[in-house]
Amino acid sequence: MILVGLTGCIGSGKSTVSSILALKGAKIVDGDKIARELQEPGTPILARLVDTFGSILLPDGSLNRAQLAGIVFGDAERLHALNAIMRPAIAEAIEVRIAQHRDSSDVVVLDMPLLVENPRSDLAAMVVVDVDPEVAVQRLIKYRQMSESDARARLAAQASREVRLAAADFVIDNGGSPDDLEPQVERAWEWISQLPPWSQTDS
Ligand code: ADP
Repeated sequence: MILVGLTGCIGSGKSTVSSILALKGAKIVDGDKIARELQEPGTPILARLVDTFGSILLPDGSLNRAQLAGIVFGDAERLHALNAIMRPAIAEAIEVRIAQHRDSSDVVVLDMPLLVENPRSDLAAMVVVDVDPEVAVQRLIKYRQMSESDARARLAAQASREVRLAAADFVIDNGGSPDDLEPQVERAWEWISQLPPWSQTDS
């Protein structure tokens, strides 16, 4: 297994890049997707979120993400409470998914928003999807129906562009059109493919 991290601010284009990498054969471990699965109706995590934050469910019983975001972003104590519930569960699920590939020759891409903030010692490399935060905000408003204040609050809770770039081994510039991504992701894939495979000493 070759294990690489893929990160970037919210709205930078991580999901877009990881879907191109998946077409090339990468196995994607998607931190956001795992978080959503852990929060599905009937899960112990969703019950804990309701215990902690009150009535945060939509009429169909699913989590009202916009409401939860409105509660926690901008309120350090409540964001901490959310992280205390979500982070250990996400971390455990990620380890299970990665372990499934350990003894294979798969390229595993760990797609996570907060990878620079929570570094791992076992990554062969860190790939960063870079975009001007203002562009990310505009894309989140336009394509993901996020309010401007929500988008800005989420970005403010993440590492700065400079800190993330300083941790990058390979940078994908997503300041252009989606078509500009393809050749860059192709180069990233070739570069990743020659990285050293994971070994026991990395863990
Ligand atoms: P992330 O996973 O980092 O939060 P996404 O891949 O979901 O980001 O991208 C955020 C939004 O911007 C999505 O709706 C996506 O389709 C769109 N998007 C991504 N890259 C571009 C681009 N180069 N130009 C325009 N829109 C883009």
